[in-house]
Amino acid sequence: MSASRDCLFCGIVEGRIPGDIVHRDERVVAFRDIDPKAPLHVLVVPVEHVRSLADARAEQALLLGELLVRAAEIAREEGVSDGGYRVVVNTGDEGGQTVHHLHVHLLAGRPMRWPPG
Ligand code: AMP
Ligand code: ZN
Repeated sequence: MSASRDCLFCGIVEGRIPGDIVHRDERVVAFRDIDPKAPLHVLVVPVEHVRSLADARAEQALLLGELLVRAAEIAREEGVSDGGYRVVVNTGDEGGQTVHHLHVHLLAGRPMRWPPG
């Protein structure tokens, strides 16, 4: 799906909306969450507009893997890899997704509870 002018994260990817970018390449952009839920809270998103994990297609498997590999790389860069971290993909209304552009949350810097709420 092409970038949507109504999509907040497409706006950040395209630079129309400000974001605290920590990584950018042709396929993946990562930026700090504006309302962090942990001392480190980064969102890793595809440049391509994908509404949610539920909308991802088999042909996008490599892209989905890149989001996770990039989250792990950012965790190393931010110095939280050894201590541990959590990655979360909220999906759909009951999954708690509020921004409808697929994103991986990278959360770290405090102990995480299980199960999540
Ligand atoms: P989710 O609830 O899983 O869809 O996550 C959306 C996330 O986007 C939330 O953690 C928000 O705090 C975050 N968010 C909303 N607006 C912005 C923004 N302008 N820049 C960075 N993060 C944002
Ligand atoms: Zn989008």
